[in-house]
Amino acid sequence: MASSLKHEEIDAFRSVLLKLRARFRGDLAQMTDEALKRNQPDASGNLSNVPMHLADVGTDNFDQEFTLSLIENEQETLVEIEQALVRIEQGTFGRCEECEGAIGKSRLEALPYTPLCIGCARKMESRA
Ligand SMILES: [Zn+2]
Repeated sequence: MASSLKHEEIDAFRSVLLKLRARFRGDLAQMTDEALKRNQPDASGNLSNVPMHLADVGTDNFDQEFTLSLIENEQETLVEIEQALVRIEQGTFGRCEECEGAIGKSRLEALPYTPLCIGCARKMESRA
């Protein structure tokens, strides 16, 4: 059951993930803010706190679309970061969600939030 990672290694990954999460959250807040501002040129004032579904935001502005697709990607990554932090708490960090094998350390160093070992990630990609 025990992960093959040492306690100190898990601690190091946790702090990397926490930093990544803070960065992604900051980026997302800023990008969302800018994208939504561009959507309301008359600045009627009170729209900025309205939670808007990203898919419903105007479609006639390429820049905005581009920003929004970046936001969606970042949101996915943010979810993966959150899940990786949960796995650290649960003691399953470093184990592949598909085959339950160990995820290689060099892979975790490159992608600390990945839920899959390299073998399963490749299988997923070829399936897509
Ligand atoms: Zn696997």
